[in-house]
Amino acid sequence: MAKVMTINSGSSSLKFKLYEMPEEKVLCSGNCERIGQLVVKSFIEKGIIKDFNEIKAIGHRIVQGGKYFSASALFNEDTEKKIESLIPLAPLHNAAHLTCFRAFKEALPNCPAIATFDTAFHQTMAPADYTFPIPYELTEKYDIRRYGAHGTSHKYLAQEGLKYLKGVEHPRIISCHIGSGASITAIKDGKCVATSMGLTPLGGIMMGTRTGDMDPSVFNYVVSVTGKSAEEVYQMFNKKSGFLGVSGISNDSRDVLAAAEAGDKHAILANEIFNRRIADFIGQYYVRLGGCDLIIFSAGIGENEPRTRRDVCKLLEEALGVKIDNEINMPIHGKEALISTPDSKIKVAIIPTDEEVMIARDAYEMCVKGK
Ligand code: ADP
Repeated sequence: MAKVMTINSGSSSLKFKLYEMPEEKVLCSGNCERIGQLVVKSFIEKGIIKDFNEIKAIGHRIVQGGKYFSASALFNEDTEKKIESLIPLAPLHNAAHLTCFRAFKEALPNCPAIATFDTAFHQTMAPADYTFPIPYELTEKYDIRRYGAHGTSHKYLAQEGLKYLKGVEHPRIISCHIGSGASITAIKDGKCVATSMGLTPLGGIMMGTRTGDMDPSVFNYVVSVTGKSAEEVYQMFNKKSGFLGVSGISNDSRDVLAAAEAGDKHAILANEIFNRRIADFIGQYYVRLGGCDLIIFSAGIGENEPRTRRDVCKLLEEALGVKIDNEINMPIHGKEALISTPDSKIKVAIIPTDEEVMIARDAYEMCVKGK
């Protein structure tokens, strides 16, 4: 038995969990400002540990691993340098991750740490799936390509989804991680073959405040007609678009759905775009995978919003023969469920995601087991 901590640091806050491994028992979890020392001290104050040395490994979630990492990596000078070099691709996140890593290093100097990358799972994509059709010298010189995001979640979902696919020789899964950030991934034999997010998490489907994919000329046109700077428009596409931008009401799908049900035209349109973009990607990935055995809904909206699941599946029914049981497709918070009917051509499941347990598993495997 060993205690392993996972750290998920955002631009302004930090989420942590302390696990007993390999049992995967969560001893403690919480949110706090980004101060490593306080978190570990609170474990002692609460009597969860007696001594700092009880923590045998720390796993940090890192948003951008670029071309360097196709799996979790032990934190050392080289790993740190690479994460630092990727700050331009994830300015808010990678810089915060490093600050957080250093704070915990100071608090627990002898505890080994690993980095688990949101991009790692997507490194199995083929060049035709990750290369953007810009002049190739730019691709090469600046490593401009699709990296994707939410990889740890998609990997977890791909593994959990297998329980519904007993006897399927080459399982084909389309996982939909749909929260305020959202991405869809096509998975064959447990490996990512395509994913919707691009160079940064701005790409793919429409999100709470992000545009997702659009005709790239929209960017230039908005700059020219508004007189705003490129940076201002980029921020607008990241923070003022999506559900918020189209509805003018909220970035939270719950508010937008409520307004749509009350007849608000912009809210209705926002929902229609959102559902359509999800269905479009599922259709695209159905072709990419040569079929599909399981569609998974996960994350804030995917796990909790029956109306989105119902409306997306309705868009898939005619072409793909997807059918769900609306009695089972209830708001069953935090619970896993198979919601497709027995005669549906593709199984559909709700699977609550768990990125932390994946990080804890890697930290335990790499730092504790076998030592
Ligand atoms: P992220 O991790 O990207 O910040 P989440 O996966 O937590 O996002 O998802 C947040 C979104 O999920 C919210 O904007 C909201 O629209 C939706 N959501 C969260 N909880 C619920 C719920 N209980 N019912 C319906 N929708 C929910």
